[in-house]
Amino acid sequence: MSIRNPDLKQKILAYDRAVPRYTSYPAAPLFQPDFPVSTVTSWVDDLSQGSKLSLYVHIPFCPKLCHYCGCFTHITSRYAPVEDYAHLIRREIASMGRRMQNRHIVTHLHFGGGSPTMLHEQDFRLIMDTFHEFFAFADDAEIAVEVDPRHMNASLAQCYAESGVNRISLGVQDFDDKVMETVNRVQPFDVVYSAVQNLRAAGITKFNLDFIYGLPYQTVRSLTRSMDYALLLKPDRFALYGYAHVPWKKKNMRLIPEDSLPSNAARYDLFNTGAQVLEDSGFRPIGIDHFVKNIDDMAEAQDAGTLGRNFQGYTNVAPDALIGFGVSAISQYPQGFAQNTTASHDYQEAVLHSDAPPVAKGYTYKGEDLARKEIIERLMCDLHVNIREVWTRHGHDLSKLDACQSLLVPFIEDGLAVLDQNGLLTVPREARQVVRIVASCFDEYLPPVDTTQRHSMAV
Ligand code: SF4
Repeated sequence: MSIRNPDLKQKILAYDRAVPRYTSYPAAPLFQPDFPVSTVTSWVDDLSQGSKLSLYVHIPFCPKLCHYCGCFTHITSRYAPVEDYAHLIRREIASMGRRMQNRHIVTHLHFGGGSPTMLHEQDFRLIMDTFHEFFAFADDAEIAVEVDPRHMNASLAQCYAESGVNRISLGVQDFDDKVMETVNRVQPFDVVYSAVQNLRAAGITKFNLDFIYGLPYQTVRSLTRSMDYALLLKPDRFALYGYAHVPWKKKNMRLIPEDSLPSNAARYDLFNTGAQVLEDSGFRPIGIDHFVKNIDDMAEAQDAGTLGRNFQGYTNVAPDALIGFGVSAISQYPQGFAQNTTASHDYQEAVLHSDAPPVAKGYTYKGEDLARKEIIERLMCDLHVNIREVWTRHGHDLSKLDACQSLLVPFIEDGLAVLDQNGLLTVPREARQVVRIVASCFDEYLPPVDTTQRHSMAV
């Protein structure tokens, strides 16, 4: 399907608004404080034997603050707090492992942050040893680390390879000097190239490159040039995320001059130019912002309709549960979400003095949540979903879909979405930048006019 409409850009920009990224539904700001730990432990105990687990470890330390950073992290040049934290992480893994009694199978393990590359080799190996002591891994489990190229060297690459790491996510963002100096992340091409060489030499061959569009002083020309450089690194996956400028939530973003940021119209052009560069280079678009080679597991998952979306972005295997370790980490169970405390002291106390998860917030699905979640996830993954089939399969009265369908009308009239007689809702690939906004029509908790400033703009 294609839209032959010269006004497409203007139409999409007219709908631009602040909406969640929908890595979860409901979105994390809806999680409730003081969530009962006993609820979470019962969810863990209820997982059936042989459940597929996706594990996430949050390492909340970085040596230097990137001005665009929206992550939960602490800036430190000392290793002592990182070492102490690594010890706590191992305790938390062991406690959860003892509770799960090796009844499940790990298909994914992802180290994110912050900067996981802040972990010294010995601590990384000890964390991996703890995982293997308490959890059974699938033979083809994906073990991925988010790598800051500035921290990589041959020895760390060897440590990762020997520990079973088989996928690297490289935070590149851009290669343009002016852009990167403005965001306080000077990281020339030769640094990234050297990191990739070290990792390949150690035997790790699967690479994601993460780029960000919408950074200060970025232009179509500079981004195209940077992406041409990036393609020389021969990644098998590419992510092109939109910079979420929320200075009212993240003070570090106030260090970016407002007048250096591309307009919404320029952001639209940046994304589409980047996407075109990738598609011309043989990458296939996945969801709203990922690109993979045709032979990739994710491409197969998209063809099979099994692509999933969670806090790490897109995934080729939908796990039965996602278990997060570390401060602020979020877990996802069939019954709802649990988020670890973000307070370092509380985390330490909980992990040292209890075997229960250090949970602070959570959410139990209710009402139509699961139907709405499935519709939103399928739209974010496939750009199409049969809304009536999902709604009735979850046992809900179709008349309750009317409110959502009436919100879709302007999109349909403008050719940004199609709803057929059977209930199949499709967003054309060319209009994928509007998918988050179309998906928000099914979000029961998003106010019509969001005055909370919780979310970033969609385009
Ligand atoms: S490396 Fe990542 S987590 Fe650390 S400050 Fe930069 S953007 Fe934030």
